[in-house]
Amino acid sequence: MDLSLLVCLVAIFIYVFVKNVITTQYKVYLLFHFFMMIWPIGQIGVHTTDRPHLQIIYITLSFVGFSMLGFGWLLFAKFLVNGTYYRPGRNVVLLMFTPSLLLSAAMIWNPANLFVAPVDDNYSERVYGPIFWCMLMLLVSYYLYSLYQLWKAYRSEARQADKARIFNALIGIVIMLGLPTLDLAINVGLDPWLPVIPGLTTLGIVLSDLYFLFSLQKHRSFDLVKVAQQDVVDTLSVGIVVLDEEDFVIEMNRNINPDLAIALGKRLDMASLLAGRSLDANAGEAFLRSYGEHSSERIHTEIALGAGPGPKQFLSLHAARIMVGGNLQGRVITLQDITELKSLVLKSQEHNTSLQERNRALIYMQDELFQANRKLEQMAITDSLTGCFNRRFLMQQLEHEVLTNLRYKIPFAVFLFDIDLFKLVNDTYGHVVGDEVIRRTAEAVRGALRRTDILARYGGEEFAVYLPHTNKDQAELLAQRIRQVVESNEVPTGRGRVPISVTISMGVHVVEEQTDLQIDDVKTYLKDLFSKIDSALYRAKDNGRNRVVNH
Ligand code: GH3
Ligand code: MG
Ligand code: MG
Repeated sequence: MDLSLLVCLVAIFIYVFVKNVITTQYKVYLLFHFFMMIWPIGQIGVHTTDRPHLQIIYITLSFVGFSMLGFGWLLFAKFLVNGTYYRPGRNVVLLMFTPSLLLSAAMIWNPANLFVAPVDDNYSERVYGPIFWCMLMLLVSYYLYSLYQLWKAYRSEARQADKARIFNALIGIVIMLGLPTLDLAINVGLDPWLPVIPGLTTLGIVLSDLYFLFSLQKHRSFDLVKVAQQDVVDTLSVGIVVLDEEDFVIEMNRNINPDLAIALGKRLDMASLLAGRSLDANAGEAFLRSYGEHSSERIHTEIALGAGPGPKQFLSLHAARIMVGGNLQGRVITLQDITELKSLVLKSQEHNTSLQERNRALIYMQDELFQANRKLEQMAITDSLTGCFNRRFLMQQLEHEVLTNLRYKIPFAVFLFDIDLFKLVNDTYGHVVGDEVIRRTAEAVRGALRRTDILARYGGEEFAVYLPHTNKDQAELLAQRIRQVVESNEVPTGRGRVPISVTISMGVHVVEEQTDLQIDDVKTYLKDLFSKIDSALYRAKDNGRNRVVNH
């Protein structure tokens, strides 16, 4: 029985060794398996010899292996409870190992046959001492503790797959515990009354080993592809999290920022992951909505890690469904570090903003300059006292207009008028009133003119008017009208004083149908024109003022 079970155990050992890539978890399994094999080897050994000193070696070997099983179970249970990424610390392992080690040492030493004593100098019949019972108690303690650990994990584990895995282990440990107990009860405790049933413990070991292996293969198969995939996934710069249909993390690589508190076996709550981290609150909400609705599209949002004003890490978060046969099986979440890109974008945005501001300032300045220019232009052609055009502007306009008028035989007229006896006004009422008289006179004249006529201040109290498209009759009419308007225009001279009115004398020149007039120099032409008008004005003065004289 022991031999056939040993063969079984060796076969499983070889199978596991050949079939699987050795990972840490398998190393633990193989160590455990090795302890398991020691028992049947020892049991077989005892029956192969009559020599007591060899028998005691085999017996000790058996029980050392047996006591080590407790440690093996506990270690394995820890791996089962904590998952793939569990790496127990050296001290933890040492702490778990020490009781087994101490008792093994005690059994090997067997002081005063306290472990086992032969009957009639032969170990085929043997009596177990207190060290044996201690070892049994220790084993039971190991088992119970492992059982407790697994039970606790089973209770707290929310994921169905993990629950099943732990449940399998629990069954394994019960079998493991059950059959040796039976063995002990039948072959040691009830020895005198019951026939010896050989290999019960070995059967328990093999059965639990098989259960064990089944549990490992079913729930945590560490084949080469998976290990390689894990390696590849770990070397990616992108953080990858795989969730099952209940949003529990079933896989993740190492590139996950610990601040996110994503852990294997834990449920990933997307809302709390995004809380306070979304770069754009609206986008975050939209993402959560799609996420909650199990959107079929690959959805995306951006988050920032790191509180306070310090440097932040920016992550681009993508979520995609894993569908198998139309059913949601889980999701893949990827997290990509976009800090560098983001800071570049932010920098260029800042740059853009300052450029825009500068642009706005430039446009504003340009506008101001334009307004100032317009004002300057206006000032350059306007007389400040009266708001009429000045003499320079009039002359410029005339230089241009005269040529056109002559070329196209368009009639036009030019008036020149001077306020009569103005010196008297100044002398009587002072310059301020004099200025006011000039201003109001200009205003009154402007009111009598057409929009296309140009009124310009020609000198002190002299004004010129250019009247385009105006023939002799019209000019005569307009000149008279202006003269009358001024005459009837009353100018206030100050509080309590009677307003005054002034008259003007005017020289008029009309250019009509001068077909063959050749102009070489427009300036000279204008000079002649004005001297003609000027003499007409003088004649008006000479003839008694307040009158119009046509040249
Ligand atoms: P006349 O009828 O012959 O033109 O007599 P007048 O007194 O008007 O004589 P004249 O045209 O020669 O004199 C113009 C006076 O107008 C001389 C000057 O002191 C005065 N004057 C010229 N420009 C201004 C001005 O801008 N403001 C004021 N208050 N007086 C001015
Ligand atoms: Mg004058
Ligand atoms: Mg005058």
